[in-house]
Amino acid sequence: MRVLLVGGGGREHALALGLANDPAVDQLIAAPGNPGIAAVAELREVAAIDPAAVAALAVEVQADLVVIGPEAPLVAGVADAVRAKGIPAFGPSAEAARLEGSKTFAKEIMTAAGVPTARAHTCTDPESTAQALDDFGPPYVVKNDGLAAGKGVVVTDDRTIAEEHARECGRVVIEEYLAGPEVSLFVVTDGEAALPLLPAQDFKRVGDGDTGPNTGGMGAYAPLPWAPPGLVDDVMRDVVHPTLAEMRRRGTPFAGLLYVGLALTAAGPRVIEFNARFGDPETQVVLALLETPLAGLLHAAASGTLAAHPPLRWSEGAAVTVVVAAEGYPAAPRTGDEIVGADRAGVIHAGTRRADDGTLRSAGGRVLCGTATGPDLAAARDAAYALVRGIELAGSHHRTDIAAAAVEGRIAVPD
Ligand code: AMP
Repeated sequence: MRVLLVGGGGREHALALGLANDPAVDQLIAAPGNPGIAAVAELREVAAIDPAAVAALAVEVQADLVVIGPEAPLVAGVADAVRAKGIPAFGPSAEAARLEGSKTFAKEIMTAAGVPTARAHTCTDPESTAQALDDFGPPYVVKNDGLAAGKGVVVTDDRTIAEEHARECGRVVIEEYLAGPEVSLFVVTDGEAALPLLPAQDFKRVGDGDTGPNTGGMGAYAPLPWAPPGLVDDVMRDVVHPTLAEMRRRGTPFAGLLYVGLALTAAGPRVIEFNARFGDPETQVVLALLETPLAGLLHAAASGTLAAHPPLRWSEGAAVTVVVAAEGYPAAPRTGDEIVGADRAGVIHAGTRRADDGTLRSAGGRVLCGTATGPDLAAARDAAYALVRGIELAGSHHRTDIAAAAVEGRIAVPD
């Protein structure tokens, strides 16, 4: 199988490792890829959000499968353009990707499908914003309605900050605060059949103890030793299948990766958000534990044959990833700094580039992810931090408490 992977971040590096490991893959091409991905794939230049350009590249390289990593190309219609050439694409249509592209649309689908989620109002002016903030009270949850690379959400007790964020975004969804530990559940689907991957947890805030502003994600671990038994079955029954059925009913079936972000509240699991693609950095830990060949799985979803796919196989043990971020991330990351110590197994490249002089340089806010597995969460955590300690990048920072509460048994689901 010849596989074209679209994207160039940490998620795509993790996908590239999984795809390259599948014995059915004899050629892996990544566009644009990154210096980490270059070790396992041939890199090609492409404007990833240009549907015609990606489709032309898929035809040129005679791809049997195109895997689209990031959300922006999906929302732009890259999967549609590839499928129009008769090539299976892993990733939803532009219509179906609105589940991520518009928070208002996602709420509409959840309401129609009876999916448990936070009550919410869409607001576009200061008056309706003030009314919604009054209605729900603090902590205030204010979300940019459009795509914001995971950074469009403000959760705050400070009314002024909440109002400012609403004003800056223009159109926002304001919703009730959901209290409880968060879970990311990835579901591979062909629109009808659906296979859940292992639940994971990510860390959105920049600082230890969940302090500071939200980021794209500072680390993750899987599986979740504290997750209630039956959680995944419940979410498949109450969230995933009703959502997929509603999307089919509307004539816009969702095929690809449905990311369900949940809060486990005292009233049960509630959806915080849907994404239309693998989450970053949870992909790094979930795929590190997947034994089932990845290209075969994604091809089955892309070609509508997932019902016939065998059950997924997982390694025993656990995986942890810790993000090394550039100085100034998330507000104003500094790029262009030299990186030393990144060329080791388990170091995933998220925002790097190879300079003309051959040195590896930072090229984004999240630069690298130290990713390791182990027989249990504590061992995986130690190994991930050992990788991070071996990385030199001036001014960089990382959280020191990724997976710590889970290792120490300090996470409880409210009852
Ligand atoms: P989102 O982009 O919707 O995933 O939001 C980013 C982060 O904001 C989530 O991972 C949560 O930590 C937090 N968040 C979003 N919505 C809520 C909510 N209704 N209640 C509590 N926290 C939330």
